[in-house]
Amino acid sequence: MSFKAALITLSLLGSADVAQALQPTSTRPLPQSTNTGRLQSQVNPEDPYGRARCGFDEKHVIVYESTQGAQASDCNWSSTNPDQVYAPTFIYSIPVVVHVIQHTNGDGALSPATIQDQIDVLNEDFRAAQGSPGAPGLYTMIQFHLATVDPDGAPTTGITYSTNDAWHNDEWTTPGYWEVLQWDPERYLNIYTLNTVGYYGYYWGSPGSIEDGVYLWWRYVGNNSSPTAENDNYGRTATHEIGHYLGLHHTFEGGCSGGSCYGTGDLICDTNPHSSATWGCPSSESSCGSQVPVRNYMNYTDDNCMWEFTEEQARRMRCRIQWYRSNLADTEPGCGFAGAYCKSAPNSVGTGALIGHAGSFSVTTNDVELNVSGAVPGQFGIFYFGPNQISTPFGHGVRCVGGETRRLPVLQADFIGDAALTLDFTTAPASDITADSTWNFQFWYRDPAAAGATFNLSNGLELTFCP
Ligand SMILES: [Zn+2]
Repeated sequence: MSFKAALITLSLLGSADVAQALQPTSTRPLPQSTNTGRLQSQVNPEDPYGRARCGFDEKHVIVYESTQGAQASDCNWSSTNPDQVYAPTFIYSIPVVVHVIQHTNGDGALSPATIQDQIDVLNEDFRAAQGSPGAPGLYTMIQFHLATVDPDGAPTTGITYSTNDAWHNDEWTTPGYWEVLQWDPERYLNIYTLNTVGYYGYYWGSPGSIEDGVYLWWRYVGNNSSPTAENDNYGRTATHEIGHYLGLHHTFEGGCSGGSCYGTGDLICDTNPHSSATWGCPSSESSCGSQVPVRNYMNYTDDNCMWEFTEEQARRMRCRIQWYRSNLADTEPGCGFAGAYCKSAPNSVGTGALIGHAGSFSVTTNDVELNVSGAVPGQFGIFYFGPNQISTPFGHGVRCVGGETRRLPVLQADFIGDAALTLDFTTAPASDITADSTWNFQFWYRDPAAAGATFNLSNGLELTFCP
């Protein structure tokens, strides 16, 4: 039976049957991919362990793909539609469970701190975080966090620990460790750390399948986690493999293939094709008549050389999340969101005070300004902020901010009733505001001429801040 025929047969079977049918001898078989013409992974010539950087091309078998929308063809395994609708405009936050599989000899022991370190690297890379090695890259608005709730709804650290020598050595057992350990792959990114024999790591399976997950050699987990890891110990094996998990090919996929760049090679046009993987860290390299994307996470350069996902790679990954992993990520408003809410009430001088903002949304740039107009000239007031939106009568106005509130310095409205304050994120209380966090603001001010209560409030303003 040809491999293709075998695969068709396998696709009709359950995963337990698949394990049975493939019953191999030692490490996972899956000898070739369904995608013809793929380059085979090569051993990294500079790697002291003689391993290939990535086992995606050999290991990845599309068992099945369940999709949830007609637009799935925008990012299937034969083409990409990099439509604007997939541009990063809001955040996908992906819960991760890391399955640490140890050997009885102590290999594979990874502390929770190392696992968190790896999650931090992912966020630095996918968010192009300021001051991190990923900073020159693209803010994909995809981020990762260790799961806080397990599939049964119980609190969790997002890390499981097992000790099993066969599992650690990635041997094919029945059932396979992935079948025993996996958490619902539609709701969690499953990462396994073990001895991925022959590779730094690989992605296996299809969205929602029993194999679905990222498999990492434990020595290359986290940043500088292993003294022997040399140029590949910066945690970028995970970044690369999650690129596959979210639907990306290698940038050298298909070599110098001609034809539409959205339908051949890596299915992406803003990554130039190249004939083979790039090793080490050349300052530049040309191939196929153009510059090789040396810095791209989906090439094979050293960990400390790469920092780039392109705009179209980001759109393809976001398309995959939307149509192939629709239950995986929480969505959050993107940074740069501003929205007025709640009500301003009339005061002794007019129709009421309105809150606004100016400057950027960046905590790094530190130039976010709050302003108010229509308050009482010459009177004192304060901006304050908090996590919740409420709407409760208060004084002559409506209180719009709830939860634990923070008061900013006292201001005096000018002769037309305006006031402004630049937030300083380096000093309390504004230092509580971090990138991608959302807060609600309001201006409280004195209005002694009004009968009864001698104060009033502006409307509310919701802001989501940027890195
Ligand atoms: Zn790869």
